[in-house]
Amino acid sequence: STSAEAVAEPIKPSISIGLTNLLINGKFVEAASGKTFPTIDPRTEEVIAHVAEGDVEDVNRAVKAARKAFDHGPWPKMTPYQRSKILLKFADKVEEHADELATLESLDSGKPYEQSRHIEVPGVARLFRYYAGWADKIHGLTMPADGAYAVQTLHEPIGVAGQIIPWNFPLLMFTWKVGPALACGNTIVLKTAEQTPLSALLVGKLLHEAGLPEGVLNIVSGFGPTAGAAIASHMDIDKLAFTGSTEVGKIVSQAAAASNLKPVTLELGGKSPFIITEDSDIDHAVELSHFALFFNQGQCCCAGSRTFVHESIYDEFLEKAKARALRRVVGDPFQKGVEQGPQVSDEQFDKVMGYIKIGQEEGARLLTGGERFGSKGYYIKPTIFADVQDGMTISKEEIFGPVQSITKYKKLSEVIERANASPYGLAAGVFTKNLDTANTLSRALRVGTVWINCFDVFDAAIPFGGYKMSGHGREKGVYSLNNYLQVKAVVTPIRDPAW
Ligand code: ADP
Repeated sequence: STSAEAVAEPIKPSISIGLTNLLINGKFVEAASGKTFPTIDPRTEEVIAHVAEGDVEDVNRAVKAARKAFDHGPWPKMTPYQRSKILLKFADKVEEHADELATLESLDSGKPYEQSRHIEVPGVARLFRYYAGWADKIHGLTMPADGAYAVQTLHEPIGVAGQIIPWNFPLLMFTWKVGPALACGNTIVLKTAEQTPLSALLVGKLLHEAGLPEGVLNIVSGFGPTAGAAIASHMDIDKLAFTGSTEVGKIVSQAAAASNLKPVTLELGGKSPFIITEDSDIDHAVELSHFALFFNQGQCCCAGSRTFVHESIYDEFLEKAKARALRRVVGDPFQKGVEQGPQVSDEQFDKVMGYIKIGQEEGARLLTGGERFGSKGYYIKPTIFADVQDGMTISKEEIFGPVQSITKYKKLSEVIERANASPYGLAAGVFTKNLDTANTLSRALRVGTVWINCFDVFDAAIPFGGYKMSGHGREKGVYSLNNYLQVKAVVTPIRDPAW
């Protein structure tokens, strides 16, 4: 097939990798140690570029720059309108460089180029414009007091924000964190994921071209236990935002608490249910639940990774879900029409293949897939397990790959209980034509997002975040501003209350 050929003969995107150094104080600089690490093309398993490897000393340098830019300005002292104009100008530049950004993103992460170009990159511009719009609409309140006092609140930037992001959506995770932090007037030290350091460096450059003053945004490429840990435990960082695994979320929270008690927002793992009721249009439900799981190679924290299907439509659903998975176009992400590229890294490939093995060993029924696709690159065939029991490992743990687990249910009360019986609570999908069912499920499910008859809708204004061990705090929308603001109460006596 053409897909198999594409994997055998990787397409060479026309791009030269210009930026590989750390961005500190407005300049691209080598790591203090002079060390670099390779970033790998997941299609070919070959090195794309060697990137400066930041460590404690580089984080210290970056924090120093961010501290100075915050304490002495000009960024937090500029008018909100001035900041807003820089963010808007940056959004224009993102659109001008859309092809280049999308190419970098797909090359580093393996996601389909069409997705990078038409979802991710426009998403960056859209979200920055959204937060540019907020910059001059952030303000405090006045309130009455039991006494002769004039009371007001000032909503001030929190200071230097430390931000640690993952590899599944490098550009969008950058944007969800940097957009609101900048709009509120903070300065930033951000660490990209070691698997995908490239696209953030280019957006960092574009932000400076748009007029961002030096030191406001510092980007340290590097690893978690070194550069990441240095950010989490830094005494001069005022706030930490982290997206990644629940396991590391606990580590960074402890480090933040043990150092200077910096407040932490966490966006962690998930095991989201996708519930298909008996009144569903089966073809549509198959397509949507397929998208909910397989989008982005299954590498979404909110992936619909537990598909609950009503028993009355179960057999027909399985047959059609299998046919859809077999039709999924796997191949080189730079080839037109490809729906699924390789997993991001060898480590992720091994982890997903490990879960597939466990699923079989624990007795789930393998409907399709279950093996590597092609002979080179981290490609995995779209995989479906049927008759998955709640106690099985693949039903409990986050797989983060193209593996759909389907299970049947009888009653609504039963599916509510089973859907909620997870330490995670990030998102849920509900597929129904019944308004009562939609209302009941949207209230009963203990999750941060319920998508009804849709999935993965990520508009700028819609908040995203988790219940339970999926984290705390919300990103995007008006809610995210609170993560990056301090509230100061200012109280003055009224000298002549009787005037
Ligand atoms: P994944 O398992 O999906 O790679 P991680 O939680 O390991 O998710 O990684 C998410 C981000 O957290 C990455 O930028 C990674 O480098 C960083 N990270 C990993 N370990 C630590 C750590 N001990 N301290 C701080 N950051 C870390």
